[in-house]
Amino acid sequence: MVLSMESIATRKKCFICEQQSEDGIEVLGKFLCTNCQEKLIDLSPFDESYDFYKQKMIDIWEGYMKGIRYENRI
Ligand SMILES: [Zn+2]
Repeated sequence: MVLSMESIATRKKCFICEQQSEDGIEVLGKFLCTNCQEKLIDLSPFDESYDFYKQKMIDIWEGYMKGIRYENRI
């Protein structure tokens, strides 16, 4: 029985660049690919894509907080 690496590896969609990738981390339940992870680390407020990345982070953070509020609501 032969299994290709392709079928074993789980490809996930990055929430920033929306590319399918196997390498990355999970941030607040969302997948972040290695490329974007490195970009985020190097990003400065003077970077032209800073606002784009910042907005993406705000979006997932707000979605995450909504989920928490919903679960813990009294
Ligand atoms: Zn990405």
